[in-house]
Amino acid sequence: NGFQLELDNGELYRADRVIIATGGKAMPSSGSDGSGYDLAKALGHRVTGVFPALVQLKLEGPFFKRIEGVKLVGTAEIIHQNQSLAKDRGDILFANYGVSGPPILQISRQAGELLQQGKEAILKISVIDSMSKEELLQKLQKRFRVGAKKPVDFSLVGFINKRLIPVVLMEAGINDLKRPAGSLSVQEQERIGDILTDWRFKIRGTKSWPSAQVTAGGIDTGEIDENTMESKLVKGVYFAGEIIDIDGLCGGFNLQWAWSSGYLAGQSAAL
Ligand SMILES: Cc1cc2nc3c(=O)[nH]c(=O)nc-3n(C[C@H](O)[C@H](O)[C@H](O)COP(=O)(O)OP(=O)(O)OC[C@H]3O[C@@H](n4cnc5c(N)ncnc54)[C@H](O)[C@@H]3O)c2cc1C
Repeated sequence: NGFQLELDNGELYRADRVIIATGGKAMPSSGSDGSGYDLAKALGHRVTGVFPALVQLKLEGPFFKRIEGVKLVGTAEIIHQNQSLAKDRGDILFANYGVSGPPILQISRQAGELLQQGKEAILKISVIDSMSKEELLQKLQKRFRVGAKKPVDFSLVGFINKRLIPVVLMEAGINDLKRPAGSLSVQEQERIGDILTDWRFKIRGTKSWPSAQVTAGGIDTGEIDENTMESKLVKGVYFAGEIIDIDGLCGGFNLQWAWSSGYLAGQSAAL
């Protein structure tokens, strides 16, 4: 018998067909606070587990306050059980909670999915990704040899961001930063090389909805007719956009999905 919609101000509308295009939960200040899921559930639809995507990662480690604001061009990768699930390169920005920056946002979905399933998610950062580890070790050895009497922290100035130096050395197990560079053993030099090419962090979570650019998960796509966007469960109900269990990478894919599915839903509902 159609639908009756009630607005916040009490106005009532009657319609034969309705399109639910209420977005997901990302950036709730925009009005998309997930209330559309309740509407869909009330109509019998299944909502798959939703979690923030295109979002910053919170990492375990005691030193993030010290390197907050450090930016580098490197490669970031999500690792699970030693397998790489997602990888991207670009500006990586350390923050007091962990990391941000375009490549982090791009690969964050895989981390969110693992964490939602209660699985371990590891972030691998290659601070130096423009040469092989062997080439890097040769360069480091040369630096440590040429400045053998200089403190080890000084010998890395100009090679990596200055604020990263003490943290990288500590992570490599070198606690006395003022030791002469020439006193580093081969193993210690290799450990520095390991950190610079394959620095691993345990991901303790993603930032939350206010920071996310898109919602992963949503209305089960199996319950929507892909040719019309009409619900397979309730005639006259259509879905469009981010509320559906579809999300994409940065690059306009999410807006394109919202526009394309909205166009199809609108055309189908109006015919
Ligand atoms: C900061 C940020 C940057 C982004 N940048 C990009 C980008 O560069 N490229 C890209 O492709 N995508 C980007 N996105 C994602 C993209 O904006 C969204 O995926 C897209 O806007 C989703 O469109 P939508 O119409 O499904 O939902 P929304 O745009 O969220 O619109 C839903 C509307 O429904 C309203 N609403 C919610 N609940 C109810 C209710 N119960 N009753 C009535 N109305 C309701 C909301 O107020 C809102 O106006 C970005 C998102 C954010 C947050």
